[in-house]
Amino acid sequence: MSISFDSQTRSYELFQRAQKVVAGGVTSIVRGTSAGWLPYPPMIQRGDGSHLYDVDENEYIDYVMGHGPLILGHRPRNVSQAVAEAILAYGNLFALPYELEQVTANKIRDRFPSMELVKFSNSGSEATHYAVRLARAITGRDKIIKFEGQYHGWTDATEYSYHPAIKDLGPRTAPRTIPAAAGTPMEYARLVLTQPWNDADLLRKTLRDHRGEIAAIITEPIMANCGVIPPAPGYLKFLREATREYDILLIFDEVITGLRAARGGAQELYDVKPDITVLAKALGAGFGVAAYGGSRAVMDAVARDEILHAGTYNANVVAMSAANATLDELDKPGTYENLERLGAQLANGIHAIFERAGIPVQVQRVASFWQIYFSPKPIREYRDAAQYADLIQFRKLQAALRKRGVLIYPNGLGRWFLSTAHTNADIEATLNAVEDAIPDLIG
Ligand code: PMP
Repeated sequence: MSISFDSQTRSYELFQRAQKVVAGGVTSIVRGTSAGWLPYPPMIQRGDGSHLYDVDENEYIDYVMGHGPLILGHRPRNVSQAVAEAILAYGNLFALPYELEQVTANKIRDRFPSMELVKFSNSGSEATHYAVRLARAITGRDKIIKFEGQYHGWTDATEYSYHPAIKDLGPRTAPRTIPAAAGTPMEYARLVLTQPWNDADLLRKTLRDHRGEIAAIITEPIMANCGVIPPAPGYLKFLREATREYDILLIFDEVITGLRAARGGAQELYDVKPDITVLAKALGAGFGVAAYGGSRAVMDAVARDEILHAGTYNANVVAMSAANATLDELDKPGTYENLERLGAQLANGIHAIFERAGIPVQVQRVASFWQIYFSPKPIREYRDAAQYADLIQFRKLQAALRKRGVLIYPNGLGRWFLSTAHTNADIEATLNAVEDAIPDLIG
């Protein structure tokens, strides 16, 4: 099979037309040509389970999976049905409380015991922003620590040092905080101290130097926005102890890892309880919903309306019925075991293919998400990725797979996602496509 991307396709034609009315032709920076969808992104006609179909009727095995939410695949039947039934039966928006909120919050608390009290919002960016704001309100301090290569949404609170050029990073011992894009005031950047991840000694020194100034450390407990980087052994426990010692709040941004790394997220997998947790993505299986929460003591400031939590669409019926049904679906027997089995089969299979071809790669995986780095060395932090990962080679792999009906995100600092809809046949077809793609990489 070879899918072509020339100017004769309907995708091409629609993308040209889109650019006349939608700025840049796409509605997120990760969907357009600047994100590597070259020569143009496929225009999608529909999704079904693990597969996507474009308007030219090309069929793809999808590993972008909406960048994580689609843990149950495209058009998950039971969730879609629950949403449709709920909005037809009750309506969509009340601007007043209703019972499904507490039902959903209880199901979250059952999986994430650290989230004794929960608050809902619409996206990971919003919920993360609230988490940071809450930490600032509780501690009365304005500075936060975030890690290079991590992403916590597009707000001015955290969008710094995402994937900066090596030359801009500054020394490891004193990293610069670099706004991810134009329009972020440098005044805000001064409130964010950036650090390399997985380095306890450096962080210990930073905490000592800034004693009494820091409200929170925010981290993805498994880095999933710089490929996939698991925490070094003991690192999350170190973060927990150090934040306690310095009276700082620990925020786990589990927007990707929550309900995906394990039923109870990375905090269950590594047995570390943060003060505040942020969930989104897999929580709604593709419908827009997010949540943050923590202990009663931590959430008290929100409960008493000391911090402003608002949002016209918060906990609307689509969001709540989707989250509620998704949590039930994920609790069906074998979900996480199957995801682990398929993830291992595919990631290990890919690794073996490259090994046989003599191409050095690192395949770094947790459960159902992983990344392949064209790198001779393991990637433990953003600076490793910036230095060693060959992103051009990754683009070649992406293009070669796209031609062969396998869709992955073009940026080598993204990742592959599996869903419960992926099958053994998908895995086999994908491994065949990877094998077949090797000559494109060498040539
Ligand atoms: N945090 C993390 C770890 C994420 O990966 C993302 C999105 N990729 C966000 C926050 C922001 O979520 P959203 O796109 O729903 O605003």
